[in-house]
Order: sequence, then C-alpha cells, then structure tokens
Amino acid sequence: MPTLSRDFIKAALASAEGPDGVPLARHLIWSAACDTFASVKLHIEGVTDKAKLDNFARRVHGSIRAAAAEQGVILTSLIVELVDEPGTVLFTSTSGAKPTDDQSSRLVKEGESNTPNTASSTSGKPNAQAGAGSLPGVTNIIAVGAGKGGVGKSTVSVNLAVALARKGHAVGLMDGDIYGPSLPTLLGLAAHEMVVHERLIEPFYVHGIKAVTIGKMVDPEKPLIWRGPMAHGAFKQLTEQTNWGELDYLIIDLPPGTGDVPLTMAQSLQLAGAVIVCTPQRVAQDDAVRAARMFQQLGVDILGVVENMSEFIGDDGKHYDIFGKGGAETMAQRLGLPYLGDIPITMALRANSDAGNPSANFDPKTAGGEALPRALTKLAENLENQLSLAAMRSGRSKPKLTIS
Ligand code: ADP
Repeated sequence: MPTLSRDFIKAALASAEGPDGVPLARHLIWSAACDTFASVKLHIEGVTDKAKLDNFARRVHGSIRAAAAEQGVILTSLIVELVDEPGTVLFTSTSGAKPTDDQSSRLVKEGESNTPNTASSTSGKPNAQAGAGSLPGVTNIIAVGAGKGGVGKSTVSVNLAVALARKGHAVGLMDGDIYGPSLPTLLGLAAHEMVVHERLIEPFYVHGIKAVTIGKMVDPEKPLIWRGPMAHGAFKQLTEQTNWGELDYLIIDLPPGTGDVPLTMAQSLQLAGAVIVCTPQRVAQDDAVRAARMFQQLGVDILGVVENMSEFIGDDGKHYDIFGKGGAETMAQRLGLPYLGDIPITMALRANSDAGNPSANFDPKTAGGEALPRALTKLAENLENQLSLAAMRSGRSKPKLTIS
C-alpha cells in the first residue's frame, strides 16, 4: 500500500493556490506524515473570520487529498492547523478515515463535536464526564496503563471490558496503544472490515463489547512511528470520531510508559480514573510507580493496581510463584493506592488471547478451571467499587443512607 511522506505533502501544497492567490506551500511551516496519516501546520496572518479560515483549511485538505488519491494513497487521517505569527492556533480541522466520503462534509472545526448528540447516559450511575472533555453518552472513561510493555496491559484491558459487559454494562474498548495496537489479535478482528458511516467510525461489536483500534486502519507489518502532534491527532480522532453510542464504561488501553498519548488523553478527556497493570517483579513495580506518578501529575484519579501473571497454576493444581507474588499489592500499599486484585498466569489465557477469544476466559471449561474466571470477575467488581468511591470523593455522587 502506498504511504505518505513529508516531501509528498510539501509537493502537494507547492502546486496548489490558497484563497489569497499565494501557493499553499508558502504558508506551510510544519508538516509530518507517516503511513496514511498526515498533520500540517500553516501560517496565516490577519484572518480571523471563521468562514475564511474554513475555506483556507478546505483548500489544504482538498490539495493533499487529491495528490494522495493520484498516488493511490488511502488517507486515513489529515489534521490541518492554521496558526498566526506567535503560533496561536486559529483554526483546526480534521478529515477522517473514509477516503471516498465527501471531503467538505467531514471537516471538524475546533470546539465542535462531531459525535452524535446522544445526551447523557441514562444508566443512573455517577457521571464522571460532565463538563468539558466528556464524550456524549459515555459515563465512565477508564484508562489502563503500565510502566512498561509486555506486562499484560492489553490483556487486562480486554478482559476487564468483557467482564464488565458480562455484568450487564454497555462497554466500549479503545486501543489507545497507537504504537503497537494488539486489539486486532486479542479480539479476533482479522475477518472484520472497518466501517465509517456519516463521518464516524463504527466500532466492532465483538464479545459483547464495542471496540475500535488503529490496528485495523494501517498495514499490520509497518512500524507506527508517530510524532507528538500526530499521535495527539490520531488518539483524538479514535476517541471522538467513533460512534460509541451510550456506554457505561469506555476502557482505553494506553501505550506502555509515560509518553505523549496519556498527556493527550488527560488534556482532552475527563477521566473517571486509571488502572495500572504490573507484574510482581521488582523492575515492573519500579516502572509502575513511574506510571502512577504520571497519572497523579496529570490529575487523573488512580482507581487501582492490578497484579498480572501473579502465579502459575499447573495442571496438578499446584501454585507456582514464577515471578513472585504480592509485589504489586505491596507497591500499591506503599503509594496509598487501591489494589484491585491479581490474575494468574495460565496457558488458557495466553491461548484464548492468541485465538482472539476473550469470552473463553470466563467459562471454566475453556479457561483451565475456576481460578481465571473468578479472578477476572472479581477484578471488575473491585473496579466498580473503586469507581463508586472515587465518584463520592469527587462529589459526583453522594453516599446513600439506607435505614431499615
Ligand atoms: P502489554 O499490553 O502489556 O504489552 P499484552 O497484554 O499484549 O501485554 O500481553 C503480552 C503477552 O502475554 C500476550 O501474548 C498475552 O497473551 C500474554 N499474557 C498476558 N497476561 C497473561 C497471563 N496472565 N497469562 C498468560 N499469558 C498472559
């Protein structure tokens, strides 16, 4: 599949004229392109009228899209920012995923939401998303992070989402790990086609949850190299341009570590809180502490710590503490954070994950016994309890006094 490059963007704008008669390339001050995503920044002076700015941005979108189409490039995302001399953003517009859509109808201006106005959730639960940065219809946004990769963050995100759905909640799962999306594998999305309808990505509906992943929009074998603003744009598009509908929970699987994406997320979304995944070893704990500090710095409530790969339960029923046990709980205590529980390391969990069938982790017959379903269900229960406590702490809900 052909892809975009920075030089390509420059060339596309060199041959197009802006509404002021000056070639668009003369306004270009910054551009980045990777794969089928691009982000450009143009300098424009003395224009404050929104309609004129909009017209200008449309020309930029039009020229880049036309040039891309000529090369057979399917443009997944294009972000255009117009800035003045001090660099203040005057206007932003983003065009989304479906190249055959009418370009003009898919421009999203800053301050506007293109998500359908579905009003607030009717679930009656504490609404953590009131005010700026909320997603209409989504009650609780929960980020799942980890200090390092490979500790099972995506596995926990997926199974937490499925566990909450099995308790009767409407759940969405977003693959915020834009550098290494694993949801296509973990949810078995290989045969599923991405659909964009009226400017919005339709989430996949699998295993009782709605899911979206950038992994279905890009070549799975290509490295995903994002510069800061592009990572920012891609993350925002996935969250804001998906037709989530009414959700009790939206789980966001973050990239490992403490990079741009958590920053974007904390800036743009009002979160109910974050979950930190950690394995029992000392090095994993040290990284998890860094992740915890990051959430705290970003003002995100930490709902709790999960210990993954806590112990191995053999076919003989014996428990083996391969990586140790209890390290994450000790760390949580040390930092004064809630502990949500542990997940054993099991062959079944690994195999069900590779097969893209998380539902199988909830049936003792396909989960290698009772321990795994019990642990996953308990995790979801503890998370819900912590959410209620967090809502009370922040004044979003009041404790109920029942007198009998
Ligand atoms: P991360 O998102 O932290 O990079 P993943 O969730 O992708 O990690 O997990 C890495 C690998 O470990 C996957 O193959 C997954 O199936 C496996 N895995 C994760 N947790 C467990 C577990 N508790 N038992 C067995 N395999 C696990």
